[in-house]
Amino acid sequence: MSNKKNVMVFIESRAGKIAEVSLELLGAARDLAGKLGVQVEAVAIGHDLKNELTVLGHYGCQRVYYINDERLAFFSSVPYAKTVVNTIKAHNPGIVLFGATTMGRDVAPRVASALKCGLTADCTDLKIGEHQIKDKTYKNTLLQIRPAFGGNIIATIVSPESVPSMATVREGVMKMITPNPDAAVEIINEACTIADNDFLTEVLEVINEEKAVNLKAAQIIVSAGMGASDPEAIELARTLAAALCGELGCSRPVVDSGILDKDHQVGQTGITVRPNLYIACGISGQIQHRAGMSEAKRIIAINKDPNAPIFAIAHYGIVGDVKDVLTKMINAYKKA
Ligand SMILES: Cc1cc2nc3c(=O)[nH]c(=O)nc-3n(C[C@H](O)[C@H](O)[C@H](O)COP(=O)(O)OP(=O)(O)OC[C@H]3O[C@@H](n4cnc5c(N)ncnc54)[C@H](O)[C@@H]3O)c2cc1C
Repeated sequence: MSNKKNVMVFIESRAGKIAEVSLELLGAARDLAGKLGVQVEAVAIGHDLKNELTVLGHYGCQRVYYINDERLAFFSSVPYAKTVVNTIKAHNPGIVLFGATTMGRDVAPRVASALKCGLTADCTDLKIGEHQIKDKTYKNTLLQIRPAFGGNIIATIVSPESVPSMATVREGVMKMITPNPDAAVEIINEACTIADNDFLTEVLEVINEEKAVNLKAAQIIVSAGMGASDPEAIELARTLAAALCGELGCSRPVVDSGILDKDHQVGQTGITVRPNLYIACGISGQIQHRAGMSEAKRIIAINKDPNAPIFAIAHYGIVGDVKDVLTKMINAYKKA
């Protein structure tokens, strides 16, 4: 057991492939560990993953505790949560990070509850800092930063008296570091001590569904808001996206209204994107939307309201009717 309170990442895998969110979290863990002078560790649960685990080293992980068991080949809430609890108890990390995915959101609260420690969901930033409560100062505390009260404030949450501090982070929020193929990870095999009667479900069949849209990987996104939500405007946005070899995104009310699928939603409760070009069509630019796209390299905003907040972050603003502007853009790009 290490005396240093290292930073640990829960590694997700599906069909033997490490989830991108886990690699993103390793980058964040590396920054936090660097500030604390500790190491980056991981806990990986599954079956026949060993070859995949070497990639963790490329993304900043120094040591991975690998619990390999045929019964763990498919995700199951209780065995996975118990295995993470056992690993935390054995290795005593100071911070544990989970992806805010279906799996992470299932496991993390069970672990927090079992260990009686704090957990902050959907963090948008993580820092190491000082925190003062009355006359007591906590140094080197994990500052868990996330929007609160419907996005109206950005809250910094600390849990300095319970160890470890735990947080979940949505996919895409942390930027993946450039991998170093020469960096190695120490793989430590650990036994699975979960009893058979903790496996409450049996996986009979796995049906994989491909996502229709991959916003995270898109270099160009044309995004439709409520000002571009009628069928004609959506079709124009889709056509422009296709002409630019990009993807179609949207704001949350477009999803809530049943116009587009959730896979298209950009923002705090949608997908965080960093494309080279983001074209916001009829999107007002509320903070919850900006949380998911403000790091785009170039932003073009089209809005009929010259005072729309989106113009505050746009590199280029076009004031006008979205259908007129999109039609002109499509014609211009098609000619080009
Ligand atoms: C907890 C929480 C989480 C949220 N998460 C998200 C999220 O992940 N993503 C997200 O997007 N939102 C999210 N929201 C909702 C967010 O607060 C806004 O309500 C939403 O982003 C507004 O979407 P919009 O800009 O498409 O619509 P609106 O705010 O209605 O804006 C429509 C815009 O279109 C313009 N317009 C109208 N007609 C035209 C036209 N013909 N031509 C040009 N412009 C036109 C208008 O001037 C206006 O600026 C969240 C809210 C909460 C409380």
